[in-house]
Amino acid sequence: MVPGSGWFDRFVTHHNSMIGDVGGGRLGRVERAFGGRWRAVAVTVVAAVVLVSCTGDRDGPDGDGFRAGSVDLGDPYVPGSGNGGYDVGHYRLAVRYDPADDRLTGHAEVTATATQPLSRFNLDLVGLDVSSVTVDGAPAKHRHADGELVVTPRQGLGPGSRFTVEVAYAGVPGAVADGVLGSGGFQHTDDGAIALGQPHSAATWFPVNDHPSDKATYDIEVTVPDGLAALSNGVPGERTSAAGWTTWRWAERSPMASYLTTLVIGDYRVQTGSHAGKPLVTAVPAGLPATGPEAASVARTGEIADFLAGRFGPYPFEAYGGVVVVDSRIGYALETQSRPVYGPGFFRTGEPNYAVVAHELAHQWFGNSVALARWGDIWLNEGFASYAEWLWEEHDGGQSAQRSFEQQYAATDWSRPTLDPGPGRMFSSAVYKRGALTVHALRRTVGDDAFFEILRTWTTERRDGTATTADFITLAERVSGRTLGPFFDTWLTGTAPPALP
Ligand SMILES: [Zn+2]
Repeated sequence: MVPGSGWFDRFVTHHNSMIGDVGGGRLGRVERAFGGRWRAVAVTVVAAVVLVSCTGDRDGPDGDGFRAGSVDLGDPYVPGSGNGGYDVGHYRLAVRYDPADDRLTGHAEVTATATQPLSRFNLDLVGLDVSSVTVDGAPAKHRHADGELVVTPRQGLGPGSRFTVEVAYAGVPGAVADGVLGSGGFQHTDDGAIALGQPHSAATWFPVNDHPSDKATYDIEVTVPDGLAALSNGVPGERTSAAGWTTWRWAERSPMASYLTTLVIGDYRVQTGSHAGKPLVTAVPAGLPATGPEAASVARTGEIADFLAGRFGPYPFEAYGGVVVVDSRIGYALETQSRPVYGPGFFRTGEPNYAVVAHELAHQWFGNSVALARWGDIWLNEGFASYAEWLWEEHDGGQSAQRSFEQQYAATDWSRPTLDPGPGRMFSSAVYKRGALTVHALRRTVGDDAFFEILRTWTTERRDGTATTADFITLAERVSGRTLGPFFDTWLTGTAPPALP
C-alpha cells in the first residue's frame, strides 16, 4: 500500500503529534493533493476503532465435545475480522455483476480443514443476502448478521477433516467504512466497480476468513455485460461470452491473503502479454491516452520486477500485472497479488511514477508471498516496500539509497514506534519511513553480502507463508552470525535517534 497525499499529516491534526515529512520524493509531491479528503476520513476511522466489537457466537463447549470456532482471531488491529476453528485452503468464486443495477450474484465454494472439533463456524460477509449454505453438499443452518455468517453443519466436523462450504448470495454490495484508510471494499463506479482495500475489502463481495494469517488459493470467475473488462488476481483463464454476458476467469495458485484480492470491472484497455515466461496483464481506463503517464508506468512492470528479483530472489508468483483506476475514492495504490491497483493521484504530475510501481511490486515478496501473521508487524511489508523505492531510484539514475537514508533520518520523528504502531497508525510514517530506515541500517550494520543474503533467505524460506518480526530477527541473526536483538529494539521501538551505523 502507498497511501495518497496528506495521509501522513492527518495525524498532526487528529492525534496532536508530529510525523516526519514525506514530501521529498515523487510520491510525496503527488500525495499532497489529497489532504482534505483524508482528514475527513480520519474522524470516521477513530470512531470506528472504538465502536467495532465482536459479534456472533462465543467460544464454548457444545454437544459431543464439538465447539464453536472463535468469532475472530483476536488481532487488535482488526476486531471482528477472521475466524477460528478452521483453515481455508481454496476459494472458488463465481460472481455476476451488473453495473446497471449494481447487483451482484455470487456463489462461493470454500474448501477448509477443521483445526478443532467444530460444531459451528463463522465466515466474514458484510451485507448481501445469503440464500443457501451447504457443508459437504448437505444443507446447513446459517445466520447472517453484523458481518458474520454463522454456519452450523448438520454434524460436527472432526479436527483435521476437510470440508467444503457452498454459499449462494446476492445483493447490492457496499463499501466498508472501518478500514484504516477509510472506505474499502466493493465500490460502484461510473462504468463498473472496484473491490479493493486494506485491511478490509474481501468480505464485501464474498464469504471469507478475512485475516492474512489464513492464506488460500483462488479461482475467480466474474461475469459482466459484454464489452466490459473484469480484472482480478493471478493467471488469466478462458474468456467466454453468452447472451450478452462475458465471463472472465482468473486463477491465483499461490496462497493469497484475503485483503490482496481485487476485482476491477469497467471500460479498460487490457493488454495481455507475457514476461519471463509468465502472463503479464496490465489495464488502464479506456478513457486515458495510450501513451499517458499511467500506461507508461505500468509498462515497466516486468523490468522493475526483474530489478527487484535481482535483489530479493526469484519473483514469487505465476503472473505479473498492474491496473490503473481513475476513481477519486481510491486515494492509494495497493499491492493486490500479482496485479497491483494504482489510484489516479500518483500520475497527476503528468509524469510516469515508477517509484509507486517499485513499491507495490516489492510487496509481492514482502507482504504477499511472505505475509503477516498479525497486523502489528506491518513494517515487515511497508518498511521493505518503501526501501525498494530507494533501491529503484538509485538504479534508475536518481539519488543513492544512502542519500535517501540520510535525508529521511534527519526528518524522522523518533517518538513513534515502527513495530506495533497501534491500529490507527498502520499506514503512518513510522511504519513506512522509519521502517525503511531500519532496513537500510541493517544493511549498513551487517554489510551488503549478508544483508542481501538475509533478504533472499527470508523470501525463500518463508515463501507462500506468514511470519512475524521475531521470525525475521531470528533469521537475520542466523544468516549474519550476529546478535541483532538490541539493534532491532533501537531502530524499531527506541524513542531517540539511534547512532548511525
Ligand atoms: Zn505499501
